[in-house]
Amino acid sequence: MRGRAVGRLPRCSSAASRPACWAPTPPSWPPGPARRAPRGSASWSTRASASSTASCRLLPLLERLHLRPVAVLVTHGHLDHVAEAAAVADPAGAPVLLGAPDVHRLEDPLEGLGPQLRAALLAQVPGFAWRRPASVRGLSGGDEVVAGALRVRAVAAPGHTEGSTLLVVDDVPDGDSWSAADGLPAGTPAVAGRVRSTVMTGDVLFAGSVGRTDLPGGDGAAMRATLRDVVLALPDDVLVVPGHGPASTLARERATNPYLLDPDLLESP
Ligand SMILES: [Zn+2]
Repeated sequence: MRGRAVGRLPRCSSAASRPACWAPTPPSWPPGPARRAPRGSASWSTRASASSTASCRLLPLLERLHLRPVAVLVTHGHLDHVAEAAAVADPAGAPVLLGAPDVHRLEDPLEGLGPQLRAALLAQVPGFAWRRPASVRGLSGGDEVVAGALRVRAVAAPGHTEGSTLLVVDDVPDGDSWSAADGLPAGTPAVAGRVRSTVMTGDVLFAGSVGRTDLPGGDGAAMRATLRDVVLALPDDVLVVPGHGPASTLARERATNPYLLDPDLLESP
């Protein structure tokens, strides 16, 4: 599979169908708070969709700023998160880094999926044919990736896939437009101050939901342990940037996300 010819790159569509990786919404779950769009534009943003980023936005941006990627970090090995990894990494000779247990998924990110899920994932990257990145390296929990002033810490968070990884940065995109208190329901004890750091959660944690565990590599017990021991251990003043949907804060998710309020809602597959 390695080095197989590339097909066309995905079309420049930002239209994301409902992500195929979400856990079912609990019937009792009320609609979440409206998304607050961050102000300003920075070198990284919470607004770009995965399918439109590499070919249509990121590569032209890098060219315009005369920047060369030194590595491509991904949170896990599902197709909708790695579809354009080779397109960004290979021309720069950069490695693609992801949780070591998920490295094998880059041989064929669709392996083991039934026809319905294959179609759902491919619908998010229309017209795509898979190409494995030329250089792939595994990350372990605790690893740090340093590029200039940017330091990214990998935190193992298995459950959605074996190698799902949280990527933590001690900085916040879009300046100071987020507060740890944003979106908290009335009556919740106030959380003072602005967010101080960012966690990219992939398909582990979304605003108001978590990743499903019934795909290949998914494990309900591992996910519940991750939610309890890893996600809930994060401080309130962390900006949560999920792999799908709007950003949030840990304070908001701790107070409103039904799967954090009761990880047992997540049934074992
Ligand atoms: Zn996924």
